[in-house]
Amino acid sequence: MIVMKFGGTSVQDAPAIDRVAAIVREHLTEKPVVVVSALAKMTDQLLAMASAAGAGNREKALELSLAARERHFNTASDLLGTGKFAQIHAELEEEFNALDELLRGVVAVGELTPRTTDNIAGFGERVSSRIATAAFSLRGLNASHVDSRQCVVTDASFTKAVPDLEETNSRLREIVKPLLERGRVPVMGGFIGSTPDGITTTLGRGGSDFTAAIVGAGLDAQRIEIWTDVDGMMTTDPGLCPQARRIKTISFEEAAELAYFGAKVLHPATLLPAIQKNIPVLILNSRNPRNEGTRITATAPKSRNVFKAIAAKKRITVVDIVATRMLMAHGFLKSIFEVFAEHRCPVDMVSTSEVSVSVTVDSNESIAAIAADLGKLADVKYEGRKAIVCLVGENIRSIPGIAAKVFSAIADVNIQMISQGASEINISFVVDETDVPKVVSRLHEVFFSEVDSEVFA
Ligand code: ADP
Ligand code: ASP
Ligand code: MG
Repeated sequence: MIVMKFGGTSVQDAPAIDRVAAIVREHLTEKPVVVVSALAKMTDQLLAMASAAGAGNREKALELSLAARERHFNTASDLLGTGKFAQIHAELEEEFNALDELLRGVVAVGELTPRTTDNIAGFGERVSSRIATAAFSLRGLNASHVDSRQCVVTDASFTKAVPDLEETNSRLREIVKPLLERGRVPVMGGFIGSTPDGITTTLGRGGSDFTAAIVGAGLDAQRIEIWTDVDGMMTTDPGLCPQARRIKTISFEEAAELAYFGAKVLHPATLLPAIQKNIPVLILNSRNPRNEGTRITATAPKSRNVFKAIAAKKRITVVDIVATRMLMAHGFLKSIFEVFAEHRCPVDMVSTSEVSVSVTVDSNESIAAIAADLGKLADVKYEGRKAIVCLVGENIRSIPGIAAKVFSAIADVNIQMISQGASEINISFVVDETDVPKVVSRLHEVFFSEVDSEVFA
């Protein structure tokens, strides 16, 4: 079997879903399980409804919800025609009524909890998967809708739930596998799961890729296909730098690093299940399905280019912790990292001097509280609106003088922290967010104006 995951833009409207049906049809012999995201921008809109309701703005919340309802009804009726649309109309009505009920509930209690946020955010995939199933069926595919919340079992860390793979795998074998054996095409919403007692959770923004990987690993897929709106994984974000080239093949390790450091084309957790089962992951373009995309596998061919790609991760805060008194005290770093752990805040980069430690974290609401706790141990200051720029490539292991080439290309830019990871496949550093376009396009010019045609298109 294979997993085919279609992102938001790939299912954004009726013509897009129609293209998806045609793509899936071409792969029927390989027994696809289809995972779909919410229609493009829907999750953002659901979160906007949730926060409007949380702020007590009932009108705005319900107005946004009505617009979402109409968009889905229009998409479904365009895809299905009046007759078939009537068949799923009641299901969709029920979902949107439940959404309105929730929004009213939030307004009534005057509080938006992470648990309710997840419940609201999950509606996009709940309805997109139903519409896709009906559209596939009408187009002659034996599609069966599977509610992902019955398969993907997670803990209760709402908005970034962690799957229980053992339980999930057993549910996938119980619910999805028999459908495949009967020649059906299971269609599931990405992003959502539920706790063992049935409370809806989400896997974090962009999490449908992760769903695809969980399903692929759980059912021992031959391949996991991530269908999106670009030709594959590129040498940098094509939205940032139009000169970006397609990477034909890349290793799990390199791609994971890029995903983690901001290449939004792939959710950072996606590759873990694939690596464990050694399942190749393909990134493909649903608007250009003949293009061969990017193939991510255990090992990738060596390229003449030093790097495979450049990623940039914005919304970073740098925390500087200065502690002359604690100089040399053992256990000091441990106590610092305990503070971050207590706040469940992952640290990305770390650099130390004799008297100070600087770390980067994703900007979040807890920064002030973290700084206050760190303040009990040392002098602390923090600054947001930073970005980590990360250059990735397995070749840097073997080529001397690379760092000099990187930093001389951006000698006029203020660079804060520099790190060459222990894995030795990335060089990363911190700059002001506003410098990202300049830094990325300069580095791209230096390292990718000529590319090895074995590896890049
Ligand atoms: P989907 O809705 O299909 O999941 P996303 O918007 O999450 O799509 O991811 C695709 C987008 O990722 C592209 O449109 C592109 O702007 C962005 N992106 C960032 N870095 C890269 C990269 N290195 N290669 C390709 N796309 C990238
Ligand atoms: N719809 C979700 C989001 O926008 C998940 C995804 O598309 O991967 O974050
Ligand atoms: Mg995505």
